[in-house]
Amino acid sequence: MKTIDDFNFEGKKALIRVDFNVPLNEAFEVTDTNRIEAAKPTIIKVLEDGGSAILMSHLGRPKGQPSPELSLSHICDAVSDIIGVEVKFVSDCIGKEAEEAVSQLEDGEILLLENLRFYEEEEAGDADFAKQLAQWGDIYVNDAFGTAHRAHASTTVVASSFGDQKCFGYLLAKEIKAIETVMETGKKPVTAILGGAKVSSKITIIENILDKIDHLIIGGGMTYTFVKARGGKVGDSICEPDKADLALSILEKAKAKNVEVHLPVDVIAADAFSNDAQTKVMPVDQIEAGWQGLDAGPETLEIFKKVILDSKTILWNGPVGVFEMEQFSKGTIAVGNYIAEATDKGAFSLVGGGDSVAAVKQFGFESQVSYVSTGGGAMLESLEGKVLPGIAAILED
Ligand code: AMP
Repeated sequence: MKTIDDFNFEGKKALIRVDFNVPLNEAFEVTDTNRIEAAKPTIIKVLEDGGSAILMSHLGRPKGQPSPELSLSHICDAVSDIIGVEVKFVSDCIGKEAEEAVSQLEDGEILLLENLRFYEEEEAGDADFAKQLAQWGDIYVNDAFGTAHRAHASTTVVASSFGDQKCFGYLLAKEIKAIETVMETGKKPVTAILGGAKVSSKITIIENILDKIDHLIIGGGMTYTFVKARGGKVGDSICEPDKADLALSILEKAKAKNVEVHLPVDVIAADAFSNDAQTKVMPVDQIEAGWQGLDAGPETLEIFKKVILDSKTILWNGPVGVFEMEQFSKGTIAVGNYIAEATDKGAFSLVGGGDSVAAVKQFGFESQVSYVSTGGGAMLESLEGKVLPGIAAILED
């Protein structure tokens, strides 16, 4: 894997694809700077080597049209503050103006190009547009994991103009390493905790990871499709009856591959999908009509705890309850705590793809797990076993 550490940027212009798709408030101020901070080490490395950095990103969905409210000029000050170097801005990403700005850029300086998606050619992966972008740099660096699953001009197509002068930035390299640890190199026992609302959205992931894990913990809304498929009563819980056969076949495949599946045994059931609902602990397969399971029950959490604390490698994707409502957040918080404890004891833990990332941030576990992925869709596709085009493009010669 070729990373930025394999290059010396002295006197070179690095064309860096970053993910600066950050939220802005009504005054066009950046309200969450995480993504900018995440790109900082890569930018600093280029500058400290004695090179210059040309940053390119998208912001929002302008649908191929310039739209002032989605101009990356709004984030220039925030980037300057975070990197600690005044960032220059050019109000186009290709053409004469960009050419001039690039030619005037000196070593140690940073130039931010205007929103790539002001051109429809970006998302279309247009080869000519990619070539125009490629002119700006001597070395191409991809550090945008969040868009690595898209074959866009700046994330994938542009790489082919750089021969062997292309590499992963630190952030993208960290994401790849974290996935590799869970899927290939991690110590056993390896445990995947899959939650979230529906089986249908996780099926490809489950099928892909069964070969790589020892334990599969299933939680959240997915639970009830499995329970019902086995003949249990799930009351009004979220359920996909048309996926019953699929659920049973997953359980069979897991058995054949010696993967231990841990399904909830009890749940916090509620008489409405509301934080003010009445609640009762019920066995997972005997939920009464008019009631729905919205969180993991106490016995379930004890089982999950034991499995998680015995694990050496942990993947968490999807909450085990409706954590957005305080009354049903305890299971997800408990799972976060067990993972934090296991990590403290030396396990590697990756939280990625789906709402478990939001939960980890909301409940303050971010610094207590080994790695929290920055890419939702990209992480899901990686867990599904797909080779992301943005990653493949760097690996190709
Ligand atoms: P995902 O994006 O697949 O990780 O799904 C996350 C969503 O699943 C969250 O919004 C949770 O509220 C929801 N969820 C988790 N458990 C349940 C449940 N028992 N019933 C309904 N929704 C759930």
